[in-house]
Amino acid sequence: MNTSNGQVRVRFAPSPTGFFHIGGARTALFNWLYARHCGGTFVLRIEDTDKKRDSEEALRVLIDGMKWLGLDWDEGPEVGGPHEPYFQSKRSEIYAEYLQQLRDCGRAYDRDGAVWFRVSGSMSQIDDKIRGKVQRLEEKDFVIVRSDGQPVFHFVNVVDDIAMGISHVIRGEDHLSNSSKHVELFLAFGRQPPTFAHIPLILKTNGPGKMSKRDSGALIEDYAGRNYLPEAVRNYLCLLGWSPKDDREILPIEEIIALFDLPGINKNNARFDEKKLAHINGEYLRRMAFDDFYSRAIPLLRNAGLVDDSSDGAYVRSVLGICQEKLRELAELEHFCAYFFRDDYQRDATAEGKIISSGNSLASVGEFLAALWELGDRWDVESLEQFTQKLAATNGRKTGDYIHSIRFAVSGQSVGPGFYAMVAVIGKDRTVKRLENFLRQYSAGNP
Ligand code: GLU
Repeated sequence: MNTSNGQVRVRFAPSPTGFFHIGGARTALFNWLYARHCGGTFVLRIEDTDKKRDSEEALRVLIDGMKWLGLDWDEGPEVGGPHEPYFQSKRSEIYAEYLQQLRDCGRAYDRDGAVWFRVSGSMSQIDDKIRGKVQRLEEKDFVIVRSDGQPVFHFVNVVDDIAMGISHVIRGEDHLSNSSKHVELFLAFGRQPPTFAHIPLILKTNGPGKMSKRDSGALIEDYAGRNYLPEAVRNYLCLLGWSPKDDREILPIEEIIALFDLPGINKNNARFDEKKLAHINGEYLRRMAFDDFYSRAIPLLRNAGLVDDSSDGAYVRSVLGICQEKLRELAELEHFCAYFFRDDYQRDATAEGKIISSGNSLASVGEFLAALWELGDRWDVESLEQFTQKLAATNGRKTGDYIHSIRFAVSGQSVGPGFYAMVAVIGKDRTVKRLENFLRQYSAGNP
């Protein structure tokens, strides 16, 4: 069937478990990057011999996750498509043929109803592209077909790597200890083992353990559900164990493909950092063309009931225009901008505590309101900024006193879009009403 002929042929070989863990996604990504870097072939092979566990739904999660991350494969399952060649569950004839080869050369025999592989007794050595030289002696014969007729992972994994002409096996370090069994099998079939590259683990944000599916941020499908940008998640995953060797974190995928190589993969375990991922997502949001951002944001605002067909389109665009640069993730959008559309917005308790304890907010809001007539019809960023600076100079205050109090009074928050832009977009009438409201409520000592 396929042979490598000096060509790079790599594969991602997931067992469908029902979720797409970031560890698996990173393995898929590194294989994909390497294939694209070398102009090779990226194969998707579904290792679904464990019938009890596998299901259509589990497969769907994987395929959707791969597509969402833009990891297109050159050979392998096209679910619902015209050909579905690489499901291990559909390759039993191939495994039977290869098993016969092992029987014929005396390397497979039956005991207790199962088929066993006879080990060679020699040390197997791999020259791992990341771990370096690894030696291990497989001392005991091992089962390759269980008594119920199910072929065992080690056997089908190696048979498929041979049958599919896989040149490089890039996979998680948890498989390093399996590689001596695999080398034994390759040699028993009279084949040179492929080049191995075992990628270090991804550790939990805190503590020594490996990320498990229960850890926050561990599943790709959750990022899709939270409207993360797939390009941002992919960019972050590239940095889990690889770097461009300078300080850059945000790189276009074409550049990563050009730079990516196996010796560049870090030998140390990578540590997962959900905050950094959110930060990178925010960077991607900021760099996105406004129209693109707008078309992703509108359905979320509609769903939240903040905009509908009767909304003022220009106003909505202005709001989104100033929120784009401050958001870290689209899931925050509703909370981040609800006050632009509703007067019954929530007040953040911590922000409120800070404002009350500052002791000058009532005076600041009062002074700002009383002097607003000076602005006349002007209500733009520049005029508001000059006005606030002049007011601060006149009253011997810091501009920050006005900024913090007024931001809280009109939005209920201590953070948000740029202050002057926010007040400019909210508009004079709404600002005045909210400031008056603030004074009424808080001077009565009744927040
Ligand atoms: N099915 C194995 C896994 O999901 C694949 C191991 C390999 O890449 O060789 O871990």
